[in-house]
Formats: sequence, C-alpha cells, structure tokens
Amino acid sequence: MRLDTDPYLERYAARVQGMSASEIRALFSVASRPEIVSFAGGMPNTASLDLEAVEHVVAQLVREEGATALQYGGGQGRVELRELIVEVMRHEGVPAHADDLVMTVGGQQALELIAKCFVDPGDIVIAEGPTYVGGIGALSSHQADVRQVEMDADGMRVDLLEQLLTDLAAQGREPKFVYTVPNHQNPAGVSMSVERRHRLAELAVSHDLLLLEDNPYGLLDFDGRTWPSLRELVPDRVIYVGTMSKTFAPGVRTGWVAAPAPVRDKLILLREAADLCPASFTQMLVERWLTTQPWQDQVKRFRTVYHERAEVMLRALEDEMPEGVEWTVPAGGFYIWLTVPAGIDTSDLLAKAIQHRVAYVPGRGFYADGTGGQQMRLCFSYPPIDRIREGIVRLGELLHTELELVQAVYGGQIPDARERRPDEPGPQLGG
Ligand code: PMP
Repeated sequence: MRLDTDPYLERYAARVQGMSASEIRALFSVASRPEIVSFAGGMPNTASLDLEAVEHVVAQLVREEGATALQYGGGQGRVELRELIVEVMRHEGVPAHADDLVMTVGGQQALELIAKCFVDPGDIVIAEGPTYVGGIGALSSHQADVRQVEMDADGMRVDLLEQLLTDLAAQGREPKFVYTVPNHQNPAGVSMSVERRHRLAELAVSHDLLLLEDNPYGLLDFDGRTWPSLRELVPDRVIYVGTMSKTFAPGVRTGWVAAPAPVRDKLILLREAADLCPASFTQMLVERWLTTQPWQDQVKRFRTVYHERAEVMLRALEDEMPEGVEWTVPAGGFYIWLTVPAGIDTSDLLAKAIQHRVAYVPGRGFYADGTGGQQMRLCFSYPPIDRIREGIVRLGELLHTELELVQAVYGGQIPDARERRPDEPGPQLGG
C-alpha cells in the first residue's frame, strides 16, 4: 500500500483508476449558496409540482397497498407500471409493448446498464458533440472510446457521422452503438430535424448500426409538438431510454429501457446483478400518479414554466451579452448552449463567475476529448424566474471585462483553446 496518495490506488480495477473528482465539482458545492444564481445543475422545477396531490397519492399507497409497496419486486419492473409507460410513450407516438420494457433507476441507470451490456475496454461508441455528461460518465466507466460528431441547429451532423463510419471501416473498426438525445438535447438545447432522423435510420440499416435513443425531454416541447422517434423508424436497431424525471419527478428515480427482446433479457440479468429489482414503492407511486392524477396537466404546467424561463433568459442574453457571444435557441427542454469568443476559457472563468455570484457548467464536461473550452451550458429550468435576468446580467458583466482583458493581453493574436487538464473530468451534476 502507498500511503502518500490514495492508499488503495493499486487495488482499484482498471476502469476506476482514471476516475477522480474535479476541481470544478468542488466549485459547484459553493455554487449552491443562495446568493449565487446557478444555471449549472440541470434540475427539474419540482417546486411547480402539485405537492398536495403527491402527498395524497403517497398516503393512499401506504394505506391501501403498503405491504406490497415495501416488498421486493421482479427485476423487469411491475407489469402494471410498464403498461402505463406504454401509454406515456404513445403520447409521443413511440411504439412499445409492456414486454419490451425494463424499469430502471432513472434513465441514468439505463445508460449504465446498456454500457455494461455492450462495451468492452477500448470499444468505440459514437455520440453527439457535445453530449450528456452522464452519458459520457456511464460510457467512460466501462472504458469506451467515445468519438463525438459535431452538431448544428438541426442536431447531429449525420453527414459527418457517415464520414466517421467510413473512416472507421477503413481502419477495420466499427462502433458498438451511436448514442443520441434527439429531442431538446442536453446540453446543446437543439433537436434533430425530421430529415436527419430519417437519414440516421437509413444509415442504421445500411451500416448495420445499433442506436441508443435517450429521450428525457420529448414531452417538454414548449408548443407541445412531438417528433418521430428513431424507435418508430427502425425498432430493431434502437434501444430507447425514457424517464419520469422530467415529466413527474427525478426523486422517484423511475426510468426505463425499451429494447429488442434479446437485449431486454440481458438488461434484466444485469439489473438483477446490480440491484435485484426496481423500488416497488416508487413504481407503485408512479402508477398511482399516472392513473389517479391529471399527469398531462402537470406536464403542460412544466412546459409553461420552462418556456417562460427560456424566454426570460433569451431576452436577457440579447440585452447583456457582448458582441461575439453566440447561443442556441431552444424550442423545449432545459438548456441553452453558449459559445464565447476565442481567448476566453470557460473552465478557467468559472471561479471568477462564482465570485461574481453566477454559475454555469463549462463546456469541457460534455466532450470526452477535452474540447469545449469556449462553451458553457446554461440551464434555465431551476432558478426562480426573477433571478434569471440578474444571473445573466452578472455573466454579461464578467464576459465584457474578460473580453477587454483578452484584447489588452493578446490584441489580435488570440491563442488556441488549451486542452483539458488531467484533473479535469466532466462534472457529475444532477441532470
Ligand atoms: N439523459 C439525459 C440526456 C439527461 O439529461 C438526463 C438527466 N438530466 C438523464 C438521461 C438521466 O436522468 P434520470 O436518471 O433522472 O432519468
């Protein structure tokens, strides 16, 4: 044993060796102070839930079915809940049968189990660039080689994906799967166009691809629109992940996978190995929420809450950001992806931002290769609406000052963005 650093270092499995908490994570513990406007954590606005209704549902559940709710259940999850989830999916036009589903501890466990199911160390997985930080976390914990494909306002550049597949094939390599968040993507705040979904589905067939479709935000389009799902287009080639975290509450930790039968069977075995079975209590709570409460009205309320916040943030960005700053305009979900001019590094800027009483997530967390130093994710779902402008004003002031500094120091000779430091993995935040 070595006692100078981590005394257990040499005993860890290879997949854990490279894992460490970042300085950025430490900064986020400060960011939760009340004087700071935090656009960092991608958290649903649970304050706009009808908590009295939740209280009623919980009390009724304990009174009427307490013994069952507090007992172990089956590894696939309760059939009663799976049948209701099929209905939830139908609201987006996503086809499924209760037998196809495996309930999981949020969508996050689904991603982890899928990574465990398919990824050996060094296997290639393709994802959007940027992509969900928890997706990178799940893949990296199984030592995937994550390759990212650039996005634009229409989502993943499927033309670049095709190019990457050709390049990989020339090296005799192929990806285990392609991970995508097609609707209101975290962190980019954009959705994949219908045309690209069709193109991706065609590529899946022509290149024998497996797609991982992660869809937490599909019901949170500000205008209530829905898009065709990849599962609908090529069901045999898609593993679909859903969650109640954004349409009900993340605290119930209720997610699911819809997968072709052989994959579903493996996932049931893997989840039994991980935690035996999903929590009966929260599954039954969700069942009652879906059958006795107007859950669709709650989803509408969430949409309104997020739409209002997005509008306030977008207006404030227009008013406060210096020239050269760019951002995406979301049509749903929680996120705006902001790009700052060259010479500013969003990881380095975070400590100053926190001193300035505003927080965001630096862009590097959303890339496996350490790029993203000129980007940041702003989440508008959580802060009180009257504080959003205040936070953007602070961020605007800071960026104005930084830009003057960059001009003074570098003039026209702005250096390239630096690479990620070795102690700087992506932050692991709620959402
Ligand atoms: N996928 C994406 C893209 C997400 O943004 C999140 C949560 N922010 C998840 C999966 C996981 O959410 P949960 O585990 O709460 O279902």
